[in-house]
Amino acid sequence: MYLKSIKINGFKSFADKIDLELSKQITGIVGPNGSGKSNIVDAIKWVLGEQSLKALRGSEAMSDVIFNGSKSRGQSTRASVALTFDNSDKYLNSEFSEIEVKRVVYQNGDNEYYLNNSKVRLKDITDLFIDAGASSKSFNIISQGNITDVVNQKSEDRRIIFESAAGVLKYKKRKEDTLKKLAKTNDNLEKVSLLINELELQLTPLKEQRDIASKYLEYSSSLKSKEIGLLAYELRNLSIEEKKLKEEQEVVKEELDNINLTNSTDISKLENLKLNKLKQDEVLSKYQEELLTLTKEIASLESQKQLAVERKKYEVDDIKLQNNIMLLKEEELNLNKNITSITSSIEDIQNKLSNITKEKQDLEDKILKLTHKHYTLEGLINDKNKEILETKNRIDIINNNLSENLSMPYAVKQVLNNPRFNIYGTISTLIDVEDRFVSAINIALGANSNVLVVDDEVVAKEAIEYLKTNHLGRATFFPLNVIKSRYIDQNTLNEVKSCKGFIDVASNLVKYDVKYKGIIENQLGNIIIVDNIDNMNIIGKLIGYKYRIVTLQGDVLYVGGAITGGSIKDNQNVLLLKEQLSKLNKSLEALEKEVKEYAKEFSELLKDEKTNNETLHSIQEEIFNNNEVLNRKNIMLNDLKREYNAKHQELISTDNLVNNKIDDELNSILDSFYKKSSDKDILEEKIKDIKNNIDNLNDEIEQLEKSNRDINSKVNEKQNKLKDIEIRLGKIDVKMDNYLLNLNENYQMTYEHALDISDLEIDEGIVKTEVSKLKSLIKDLGEVNIGSIKEYERVSTRYEFLSNQKNDIELSINELLNIINDMDEIMITKFKDTYEAVSNKFSEVFKTLFKGGTGRLELTDPNDLLETGIDIIAIPPGKKLKSIALLSGGEKTLTALSLLFAILEVKPVPFIVLDEVEAALDGANVTTFGKYLESKKDKSQFIIITHKNKTMEYADTLYGITMQESGVSKLVSVKLED
Ligand code: ATP
Repeated sequence: MYLKSIKINGFKSFADKIDLELSKQITGIVGPNGSGKSNIVDAIKWVLGEQSLKALRGSEAMSDVIFNGSKSRGQSTRASVALTFDNSDKYLNSEFSEIEVKRVVYQNGDNEYYLNNSKVRLKDITDLFIDAGASSKSFNIISQGNITDVVNQKSEDRRIIFESAAGVLKYKKRKEDTLKKLAKTNDNLEKVSLLINELELQLTPLKEQRDIASKYLEYSSSLKSKEIGLLAYELRNLSIEEKKLKEEQEVVKEELDNINLTNSTDISKLENLKLNKLKQDEVLSKYQEELLTLTKEIASLESQKQLAVERKKYEVDDIKLQNNIMLLKEEELNLNKNITSITSSIEDIQNKLSNITKEKQDLEDKILKLTHKHYTLEGLINDKNKEILETKNRIDIINNNLSENLSMPYAVKQVLNNPRFNIYGTISTLIDVEDRFVSAINIALGANSNVLVVDDEVVAKEAIEYLKTNHLGRATFFPLNVIKSRYIDQNTLNEVKSCKGFIDVASNLVKYDVKYKGIIENQLGNIIIVDNIDNMNIIGKLIGYKYRIVTLQGDVLYVGGAITGGSIKDNQNVLLLKEQLSKLNKSLEALEKEVKEYAKEFSELLKDEKTNNETLHSIQEEIFNNNEVLNRKNIMLNDLKREYNAKHQELISTDNLVNNKIDDELNSILDSFYKKSSDKDILEEKIKDIKNNIDNLNDEIEQLEKSNRDINSKVNEKQNKLKDIEIRLGKIDVKMDNYLLNLNENYQMTYEHALDISDLEIDEGIVKTEVSKLKSLIKDLGEVNIGSIKEYERVSTRYEFLSNQKNDIELSINELLNIINDMDEIMITKFKDTYEAVSNKFSEVFKTLFKGGTGRLELTDPNDLLETGIDIIAIPPGKKLKSIALLSGGEKTLTALSLLFAILEVKPVPFIVLDEVEAALDGANVTTFGKYLESKKDKSQFIIITHKNKTMEYADTLYGITMQESGVSKLVSVKLED
């Protein structure tokens, strides 16, 4: 490799472009002082990347190198220098056989570098030349006056020449880069370690929270599906039971209808039979009486017949007959008297009987009325009991609604039903209001009735986080430590107190725990309650619409005068539910009281019925007894009458006997006797028939009555069954309503959907135990942070990523340390080899240049070949060892040249620029110098700036630099002959 040409344009004194074609061996540059020769050396250094202004003889900025004008010339805008190298031997590590290196600088200080016209970085240029021993720092370019620098400089600074010669500069530079990288990597390791430590601190508690949250999600999802399953299971069973019961109800109703139909036919049949029997009884008793009369008449006729026959046989004298007649008349009179007495006693009995019968009739009427009352009361009690059952069911539903917070907005309910939050309740659950004030207080609170009361902002924040994380909606919280009371000012209060219709300040109309005073007074302390809308308007106007006024009907006069009113929709909030509950409890109490009174009345009625029935029984007995007596008296009367008739007949017969009328009489008696006997036979036949009839009727009646009794007991049984079914259906209805409400409110699910997703083949007991176990597990979990799951994932992923990164960094640190070690070893070896070789050559060259004497090199620290400095020991011939600082200028130059040449012996460099290095040498030494150059010109290219003719003689090509135009350097070629 050698430097083929130097093109300079606008650089320092070279205002015009020059193109310096160089010899492959020795090129000399000559010219007067100040003509610009050294500027060429500067130009070479500058292109090779020199950054030091001092080295370039600049003052302030790199743009100082631009031609700054002269008397006749203006300033240049840019400076450019291009070096063209022949690289056909591939000395430089590049595929090109010719390489042009160019540097341009502009007035603004911008630098540009080009390699074969392609823009490159400075680093690319320095990298290319650092291996070639031709960098700006190398020992191959020695500026004017610098030749002795190598002698004068400190031993450790001298080291760089050896490093350059040994080719370790590139290793040194790489080591520096590697150390920078190592420092940067160590920094990164420290940063990553810090981050990892921080993450480790977060990771453990986060993992605990994540585990709890995962368990919570697992439990609550399982709880949800089990609860839905249970609800679906219960609802399915209830609907099956309901269907069965309704079918059963239809069957029982139909049976009852059929029984009633049969029963009514039977009853009318029975009534007819009874009537029929009664009639038959009457006819029978009439016939029996007639039979009795006939029998007696026949017997009397028989005795009359006997008497007449006897009398015919025995005739007696008149006196005896007259006496007999007298006796008979007496007896007749006596009998008549008895008849009259019995008849009167019969009349008495009949009167008595008629009274008793009337009494009986009255009693029966009374009993009938009592029976009617009995059934009415019984029905009433049943109805009331049914009402009580319904009321209790409704109370159960409202209680359930209140305890499960079913009427609350969804988000509020979720927070309230979550046991991990310490929530006192909503405002509406924390107050008690008399029924008559409920509407007003409800309107006064408005939507804030569902505000949640908590201890402080921390609880509110946690609950809000929970709502956000689980997308459950929004809720408002009143922390007890923040919310303060509000009041109506005293003057206004005094003013409105005396107004018509004023009731009180709203906060005075509710009862609450004193703990909530601040919150209740905040919401209700500045609201006035009045009786009606008219008084509301009057009071509002009076106080200048300063406070909100609410009427008992729920009309509102807002601050400022706006009015709201109208009907209140039953929106099922807690206060209204509580009001309903209180009303239901009151009506339940009233119903129970009513039932109690009815029951008392009923039991008295039963007693009454019993007494009356007993009385009726004794009356019936009395009637029966009197009838007996009456019958006996009648028989006696009939006997007496018959006896009387017989006596009377005997009297008439006796009279007839006296008057011979016996035959006629006998005939007449016989006629009557036979007729009556025949009548009697007919009558007896009739009686027999009727008795048969009655017997048959009795049988039929008995049978019908028995079947009637059976039917009645069946009717009772069916009615009881129907009642039982109705009660069971009512209970099922209430239960189903509750379960459906639960499904809808808590899981936003229809029954059909719940059925679709649930397994209905479950053991209810086991599932219920599982549900309560899950609930207690969730409660035991305590505070749950759902966000921790994602947070843990994020933090642990980052932790893993950083840990891997840390491992990678540690690996690359090890690699870098290994690389540094390797480079150190290479540098030590190369340095050692080069140093030893140069050291040997130096002694030789020294002796040659000084023509004797001793020159040698010494390491300041042989144990540290990476850092050691190099001392030069130079003892010119005939002189004693003294400090090299004491050498003369020429001696210093010769010593420096000895070192330069020794290095060139060991490591020839492609080109060497020497600016007046031989200036201090005497003629003989200049010749030695020139000869040396000549001996080495085949191995290295020399570019020499000189004033010495002797030196010029050794040049193959000679250039002159002049400054004909003041301030501008020009190139002139010099003929060697000249
Ligand atoms: P000597 O033989 O005395 O060492 P020389 O030929 O090496 O002289 P240089 O040192 O190369 O001369 O050139 C110095 C000249 O360059 C000075 O006259 C200086 O004013 C001029 N010069 C330096 N920088 C600039 C610049 N930016 N613009 C114009 N001229 C410049």
